[in-house]
Amino acid sequence: MKDLIDSYPIQDEEFKWQKSCFVDELSEKVQRESCLMGWIHDFEIQNLSDRTQVLFLIFRDGTGLKEFQITKPELVKKIAILERESVIAIRTLGTKVNDLKIISQAKPVPILPCLITDHSSIDLVINRAYALRTERMKAILKIQDSIFSSVRKFFEKEKFYEIRPPIIGPATDPGIRGAKAGELDFYGKRYKLTTSMILYKQMTICSLEKIYSFSPNIRLEDHATQETGRHLAEFYQIDVEQAFADYHDAMNLGEKLLITIFKAVKRNCKKELNLLERNLIIPTRPFQKLTYKEVLEQLREMKFGDLQDGQEIPWNAEKALSELFDAPFWITDYPYGSRGFYDRQNPENPSSLKDFDLMYPGGFGEAMSGSEREYLYDKVKRKMLEQGVPLVGYKWYFDMLQRGVPPSAGFGLGVERLTRYICGLEKIWEATAFPKVP
Ligand code: ATP
Ligand code: MG
Repeated sequence: MKDLIDSYPIQDEEFKWQKSCFVDELSEKVQRESCLMGWIHDFEIQNLSDRTQVLFLIFRDGTGLKEFQITKPELVKKIAILERESVIAIRTLGTKVNDLKIISQAKPVPILPCLITDHSSIDLVINRAYALRTERMKAILKIQDSIFSSVRKFFEKEKFYEIRPPIIGPATDPGIRGAKAGELDFYGKRYKLTTSMILYKQMTICSLEKIYSFSPNIRLEDHATQETGRHLAEFYQIDVEQAFADYHDAMNLGEKLLITIFKAVKRNCKKELNLLERNLIIPTRPFQKLTYKEVLEQLREMKFGDLQDGQEIPWNAEKALSELFDAPFWITDYPYGSRGFYDRQNPENPSSLKDFDLMYPGGFGEAMSGSEREYLYDKVKRKMLEQGVPLVGYKWYFDMLQRGVPPSAGFGLGVERLTRYICGLEKIWEATAFPKVP
């Protein structure tokens, strides 16, 4: 076919087929001839009479959708034989299409972006390449981009340093609530894929004192977590740690961070929030604080009468509790033994930890976890033995703890859960480009 070109840029004596305009710029450039490049999102042909047809083309690029009415018979013919999702270049003047080239002809697409209605369906995880092309996914990813940039601005202002996170290591966080760590053969040694970079945060604060990272975590969660709508097997944490800080400092920082992110998204992503029909409320500080004990009492009065002291709060109870709130809230002071060995035991009350979780309201559940850290070697070792943590791979950590590790506090805020909450999504697998679902 003459119009199907296999070289890019397109060679043409008469017109410069070079992308000169995006869909969202069209109205400004309406008086000029433009070249748009993008996808056939959808089209429909109407017969106006026996001889005249009009083709309604919904054209898509990274910035949005635009409808064109095409009446030139040769152009109608060209498009009519194409599959949706084919890549084309169009030459326009205002809203009139004067010419067209085919850049990449699509085969039939298993799930057409223009026909997707059930956005939380697991089929969209499998057919990710096409689900990613919807206006809805684009809105979610643009919001996530705004989250990333606001986090970086926030920490720059607070004088924290961003570090690159570890992906593999001889040991990783074992306190991951039943999930398994992934392993790989690292030149003959069994290395773990990072489940959380907590140990490395303690290492780095001995250098820079105030650090953060966008850190990737692999956790082979139980299949049952598919039902929670908030577990992935691969996710990111905004991981934060500060030397010589206590857990109140960490919670204050967490509140400020969250409010900064919410405000930035509201400011920068109005169109995207509208598309998602999400009315994001900016919470006010300080957030409400409940202790674990208070939460347990409240849950027992609800339908969770058989909750035992010292037990982790089950996911369904956490959801029910979060449904009672209309703003984020803290749960603090979890019982000793319920969390990883690195959460600091309260010296004044050894049965509890100086730690916290932040809960989103509206049934969205846990947003972040954090604590003051154990930093003394003897204490850490004793707790690890008590909790039955296999000590293989921790030699470097024990060596380090005996050589000047300060007290610190910090937290990890799940990126996909944050995106899910901000966007108001039912399933967490909508909140990332490439979800790995347990
Ligand atoms: P949960 O109890 O909900 O399984 P957790 O308490 O085991 O989570 P943490 O170890 O506290 O998780 O991880 C810190 C943060 O990372 C969580 O607060 C959450 O935002 C995020 N997170 C943890 N596990 C997952 C997961 N499987 N998928 C997506 N985000 C997660
Ligand atoms: Mg947690």
